[in-house]
Amino acid sequence: MLDHPCLPCLAGALCLIGWRQAKARLKNDKAGVSSQPPAKAEQPDPKPPKQQQQPKEQAQEAPSKPSKPAFQSRSEAEVKQSVDTWDKQLHSRAHSFYRGEEQNLSAVLETLARATDKTSDPILKDQCCLWHGEVGEVKHTKHATIKMAKPGGREASVTYVSRVLIFLFASDEGFDRWMKLPKKPFKMRCGNQLCVSLACITEECHPS
Ligand SMILES: [Zn+2]
Repeated sequence: MLDHPCLPCLAGALCLIGWRQAKARLKNDKAGVSSQPPAKAEQPDPKPPKQQQQPKEQAQEAPSKPSKPAFQSRSEAEVKQSVDTWDKQLHSRAHSFYRGEEQNLSAVLETLARATDKTSDPILKDQCCLWHGEVGEVKHTKHATIKMAKPGGREASVTYVSRVLIFLFASDEGFDRWMKLPKKPFKMRCGNQLCVSLACITEECHPS
């Protein structure tokens, strides 16, 4: 379960989850729910945004498909361009944390680029950005998660994307406030926990 007690991690900043447990869950989700909005029976939010409802209808028409209806992935060149752009926005704590292992930091940004639509930007655009990557579920609510390597060559772990984004990009003032919160996924102001827009992250944890 993703609410499994966190391991010591990222200077206490991030909530890391046992990768094996999350992987097993992700494997189960792979058949079609891992990358789509919450299914009808699992809909966690009282007011899901409209954009969640459209893919759900398409998924019902073609249940055997991987259900990424309108997803436009970035080309390799576009991935690199996004990584370069976001790299300039990183807080110095990110560079300090990954000092000597910058490739792992780049890998996180690459995953961010590959798991979001080419027309969206989770860092620079002040609008929602749907996650098409790995998903973890806590009490029937699906949250965007990311597998990331930890410095020191330790085993990779799965972390909530919202916490990763705050660690990588938040200002010191905001970061201090966020880090006082429990190590859970942060609540998205748009109501969609599969949104990974920095602009949508609130200073409170999701109730799940
Ligand atoms: Zn959003």
